[in-house]
Amino acid sequence: MSRPILIVGAGLSGAVMAERIANDLDRPVTVIDKRNHIGGNCWSEIDSETGIECHKYGSHIFHTSNREVWEYISRFTEWNTYQHRVWTSYQGRIYSMPINLQTINSYYGLNLTPEEAKAFIQAEAAKENITEPRNLEEKAISLIGRPLYEAFIRGYTLKQWEKDPRELDPSIITRLPVRYNYNNRYFNDTWEGIPLHGYAKMFERMLSHPNITVQLNTDWFDIRDSISPDTLVIYTGPIDQFFDYRFGRLEWRTVDFTIERHNCADYQGASVINSADPETPYTRIHEFKHYHPEREDTGKTVIYREYSRFAGEGDEPYYPVSTEINKNIYNKYKILEYENDNIIFSGRLWLYRYLDMDVSIKENIIKIRLLKNKLYEK
Ligand SMILES: Cc1cc2nc3c(=O)[nH]c(=O)nc-3n(C[C@H](O)[C@H](O)[C@H](O)COP(=O)(O)OP(=O)(O)OC[C@H]3O[C@@H](n4cnc5c(N)ncnc54)[C@H](O)[C@@H]3O)c2cc1C
Repeated sequence: MSRPILIVGAGLSGAVMAERIANDLDRPVTVIDKRNHIGGNCWSEIDSETGIECHKYGSHIFHTSNREVWEYISRFTEWNTYQHRVWTSYQGRIYSMPINLQTINSYYGLNLTPEEAKAFIQAEAAKENITEPRNLEEKAISLIGRPLYEAFIRGYTLKQWEKDPRELDPSIITRLPVRYNYNNRYFNDTWEGIPLHGYAKMFERMLSHPNITVQLNTDWFDIRDSISPDTLVIYTGPIDQFFDYRFGRLEWRTVDFTIERHNCADYQGASVINSADPETPYTRIHEFKHYHPEREDTGKTVIYREYSRFAGEGDEPYYPVSTEINKNIYNKYKILEYENDNIIFSGRLWLYRYLDMDVSIKENIIKIRLLKNKLYEK
C-alpha cells in the first residue's frame, strides 16, 4: 500500500498519470524527466526577443471529439477559439490542404462544382488504369490522378520520409482525403483550440499538487540502480532503450528547426505552410503567433523552418518509421513487457506510435484502473 511511485517522463502521459495519482488516489508521486522542462513534446515557451509563445517541438493543436477527454483536460486550462487550417506551397503558389475544391480548382485553373470535381478527379485517377497498385506512388495515382500526386504528395513524402514513394508499401495509404467542397478545416473534431495561457501553464497546473514532486534533468538510466526495489515505476520513455537495445534500435524520424525572427507583423499569413517542392529542403514553416490571434500584436514575428531526417543517437525521436524491420524489432521488445509486470508502461515512445494528445490522455486515464490494482497488490 505504501509503495513509493516514480513516473519516468513528465510529458502528457506522465503528467496525466501523476495528476490522477495525486488527486484521485491521493498518493504521493515523483515525476522525473531528463529534460529541463515538463510537458514533453507539447511544451511551449515565450520567445524572449519577440514575446511570442512558440511550440518548442513543433506545432501542437489540441482537438478531440471525446467528451471525457475534453472535460478532463479543460480542468487545467481555458481555450482560445483557434481553428487549424493548413496551406501548401508548390511552384510559387499557395494551395489549401488537405485537397479540397479550392485546391482542385486553383491547381487546374477551373471552376468546377462539387459533382463536376468528383467526376473530374475520378477520370484523372482512371487515366493510368492502375488496378493493382504495387507501391505508394501507384496507389496515390489510382486515387487522385498523377498531376495532384506529383504536386502535393511526391515531393513532400520524399522530404518527410527520405524514401521514394515507389519504394514504399501501397498499404501505407488506404485513402487520400479529398473534400469536394470548400471546407478547409484541418480537423473534423467537436472541440479544438490552443490553451489560452499556453501549454506550459496547462502542464504546470496539472502537476501543481502537494502530492507531486517533479525532478527535472534526471535520467532514469542514471538512477535506476539506486531506487528502492519496492518502488512502483511508471515508464513513458523509449521501449528499445529500456531493454538496453538488446534487439537493436528502432528507427525514428527527427526534425531540425531553424529559428528566424522578423520585424514584421505577419511573415506568411498562416500558422503552418507546407512546402511540397522537392527542391526546397524544409518541409514546412511554423509561424506561432497565429495560434494566439487573441493576444496583443507586438509587430514582430518568429518562424521555425522544419527539416526532416533520420534520428541518430541522442536526437529527439519524433515519428516512428513504419517498416517490416521496425515492426519485428518492436514486437520482440513488446513481449518483454510481460516479463516486467511490476512496471507500468505508457506513452508514444513506449508504444512506438504516433498518438494525438487526446488519445494519449484517454489511454492514461484508462491505465488508472490498472494502476489501482497494482497499488493494492502489496
Ligand atoms: C511533431 C509532432 C507534432 C504533434 N502535433 C500534435 C498536434 O497538433 N495535436 C495532437 O493532438 N498531438 C500532436 N502530437 C502528439 C503529441 O506530441 C503526443 O500525443 C504527446 O507528446 C504524447 O506524450 P508522451 O508523454 O507520451 O510523450 P512525450 O511528449 O514524448 O514525453 C515523454 C517524456 O519522457 C521523457 N523521457 C524519455 N526518456 C527518459 C528517461 N530515460 N529519463 C527521464 N525522462 C525520460 C522525455 O524527455 C519526454 O519529456 C504531435 C507529435 C509530434 C511528434
